[in-house]
Amino acid sequence: MASRDEEISPLAPQSHSSGFIREEVKEEDASSSPSKSSMKSTLIHLGVNRYFFFETVANAFITLFTSSKQPRGVPTLPRISKLSKNVVRILGGNPSPLTLQGTNTYLVGSGEIRWLIDAGDGRKRCQYGNALRLAMREHKVKRLHGILLTHWHPDHAFGVDVVRKACGDARLQAFKMVRKEKGEMAVARRTEEEDGQGKEKRRHYVDIRDGDVFKCVGATLVAMHTPGHAEDHVCFRLLGDEEDGGDAVFAGDCLMNGSTAEFEDLSAYSMSLGRLLEAFARSNEKLSSMKSNNKSGSNGEREDTTTTTIQRARCYPSHGDVISDGERLTQAYLKHRISREKQFLRELTKFGQRGATLWELTRRVYGDIVGIVVLLMSCLKITKQHLGKMSKDGTVSVKRKESGNVFTTALSYLLAIASFGFFGASTKTRYVAVISNKHD
Ligand SMILES: [Zn+2]
Repeated sequence: MASRDEEISPLAPQSHSSGFIREEVKEEDASSSPSKSSMKSTLIHLGVNRYFFFETVANAFITLFTSSKQPRGVPTLPRISKLSKNVVRILGGNPSPLTLQGTNTYLVGSGEIRWLIDAGDGRKRCQYGNALRLAMREHKVKRLHGILLTHWHPDHAFGVDVVRKACGDARLQAFKMVRKEKGEMAVARRTEEEDGQGKEKRRHYVDIRDGDVFKCVGATLVAMHTPGHAEDHVCFRLLGDEEDGGDAVFAGDCLMNGSTAEFEDLSAYSMSLGRLLEAFARSNEKLSSMKSNNKSGSNGEREDTTTTTIQRARCYPSHGDVISDGERLTQAYLKHRISREKQFLRELTKFGQRGATLWELTRRVYGDIVGIVVLLMSCLKITKQHLGKMSKDGTVSVKRKESGNVFTTALSYLLAIASFGFFGASTKTRYVAVISNKHD
């Protein structure tokens, strides 16, 4: 992850829209900028496909029907908080059962020009522009280098234009990894006068690549591709010295404080958690070596280590308060996934050879702990991901029953519609636990 100077290109791929410096662009980036990438069609270029459609409709549904209050039990956070010498958190103003206290956005750096991680959801009632302006004034930030987006989800990316307006800079550059397989909504679009190309609509953010480095006074951020929650999900590792509180990780939606994260691809998500675990472990090692160097360098006398609290690399999640020990939480997440898988298998075994539908199993596992909206919008997806992984692993078999019964066919369609189809909640598909010696 070290910065490689020989590969530095002074210009971001879209140099005409910049004025901001992206400190490191790998050589291959220059040839694969969004404008030159081989997009198959205009629609795909804009990221519009069925996944995009379903997810956008689903998100609109969530906005309409979920309460806009943070769930009970999670602590209330101030709108603006200084979390360390180089990190200020601004709440997106969009609390809900899915976003907890709202989406956290972060001003990173300690100088007059800083990076902003995530942009909130862009709705007027969130008043995010005002909060950002206030935070910038309070912390003497004159302008932004740019907006770093962790992923395309509306509560993170749709506020790009609000940020531009708040900063009075219509050309402020956004950076995000392109979501190549599943599509997305282009995060705001260039206006005619900006790109001088008439009404052509294109993505107007710079494609982040794994390992890209973003620097400013008081902070160095390194992008880590961590797919799973979303294909384009990127975490940012903050490299810091001891004065800044050491290294930390902006975990986006990979880790949350107060809830577990949902994901669109469980296998990729598990691998990303593994990557995060490595990053935290490396940062923890760095922190403890900084500490021991300081001790031996200061007065040569040995300090009593039993009285010193061991500092651990922090995690700044996109939802919930700061996590003081990122490594421990990542380990807990990995354990949680394994125990959930065992639970799914245990519950599925109870249905015997008849098996269970996706809906039946989801209700059995989550029905008592979450409300109907979260059950439909989030838990069905998680159950489906687990079943997909388990059927790949051979612990679950999938049975598709062709039913001639009009009522059950209609019901299966209703369920599919209620869950926006892409969750595949059909009563015709049943999952059966495969009894094997491998699992106990
Ligand atoms: Zn998300």
